[in-house]
Amino acid sequence: MPEPIAIIGGGIGGLTTALTLKQLGHPVSVYESASEIKPVGAGIVLANNAMQVFRNLGIQSQIEAAGNRVSSMNITDEWFRTISALDLTRFEGKYGVYNVAIHRGELQKILAEELGFESIKLSKRLSKIERSEGFALHFDDTTTERCQFLVGADGINSVVRTELFKPSEIRDTGQACWRGICEMELPLDDRHGAIEAWGKGRRFGYVQIAPDKVYWYAVVSEHLVGQKNLSELFKSFPQILNILESTPPDTIFFSQLKDLKPISKWQDKTVCLIGDAAHATTPNMGQGACQAIEDAYTIGQLLRKETPMEEVFSDYEKLRMKKAHRIVNTSWTLGKVAHLENPLGIWLRNMLMRAAPKSTNYKQLETIFDIGYVKKKSSRSS
Ligand SMILES: Cc1cc2nc3c(=O)[nH]c(=O)nc-3n(C[C@H](O)[C@H](O)[C@H](O)COP(=O)(O)OP(=O)(O)OC[C@H]3O[C@@H](n4cnc5c(N)ncnc54)[C@H](O)[C@@H]3O)c2cc1C
Repeated sequence: MPEPIAIIGGGIGGLTTALTLKQLGHPVSVYESASEIKPVGAGIVLANNAMQVFRNLGIQSQIEAAGNRVSSMNITDEWFRTISALDLTRFEGKYGVYNVAIHRGELQKILAEELGFESIKLSKRLSKIERSEGFALHFDDTTTERCQFLVGADGINSVVRTELFKPSEIRDTGQACWRGICEMELPLDDRHGAIEAWGKGRRFGYVQIAPDKVYWYAVVSEHLVGQKNLSELFKSFPQILNILESTPPDTIFFSQLKDLKPISKWQDKTVCLIGDAAHATTPNMGQGACQAIEDAYTIGQLLRKETPMEEVFSDYEKLRMKKAHRIVNTSWTLGKVAHLENPLGIWLRNMLMRAAPKSTNYKQLETIFDIGYVKKKSSRSS
């Protein structure tokens, strides 16, 4: 039996990579710092590209059953008048999967159970790595493990990245975010849509994630934080106060929004970074986890083509970097556009977005949802 591939981090990226490797017959050990597999945040939307990967892994129906189909994405102004409306059914037809909104805890449970808890070592916080005949992984609990192949799936503040790669820059967006889940059933018209309302320097999004649960997020420019409480900040947005009032305050999760300035190296032969460790993005396109899932898929496709393990990580980097970085950069810009505060700027933005041809938006979605490039290009490189 070959030595297990070590994966640092049992988040969505680490667990999906581990499941992919295990299904291909490669033993894996996931080292996770938390004492249990805990969801980071509240809900999540798994876009079509991620759901295609989960279909390949055989867990599409479990995820659909635990979550809720999302067939449209609407951006509105603060009075909920449409600025941009996208119908996702055309992609459902083309790719045979839905976008699914789900509680993060449910998703992580499905992934961990499918992988098997025997492959996950909890309470293992990596603190240091030594390179000598492979890697010596030193953990906070003073234990050391050895491996020949290492995957850093340890998020935006990755220790694997800090220890083995050139210094990188975490960028603060100047925006802060609250996330929560409340017990509620949205009106029928909104039940299968993701809605984001844009106001002055603030926005509010919500989506049904289960028959009785709504996930919401509120993002504001940082200078507004502390001036007023959440309900006051969003009091001009009709219909959302009910969502905020239905959410137990002690379950609301607050964070600053950050990303990783694109880096030019994600691998060094026997080690690679995936997910937020490699390309953490702002949440404005809802693609951070989806891109981590696409990373796992790419590594799996390369292994399927029997690419030697020593070449898998460099081919993975070649295949994935362009798309992931395009998303990081586009998402960063979108976050700025969403938070305009000048009334004239807001009026102009909304007018331009309303007038934009839908075909442009659908083309952009197509480039995000299409994962066929991985198969095509990995065939050429084998
Ligand atoms: C407000 C918000 C909303 C979002 N919404 C969406 C969305 O709708 N759709 C989407 O696709 N993405 C979304 N994202 C992005 C998504 O959450 C991340 O991109 C995704 O969670 C990254 O997964 P990951 O596994 O790479 O990293 P993480 O989720 O950060 O997981 C890293 C794991 O590594 C562990 N770890 C960290 N350090 C160590 C260490 N030293 N040793 C051992 N273990 C360690 C952590 O405990 C954690 O379990 C959102 C992000 C935010 C902030």
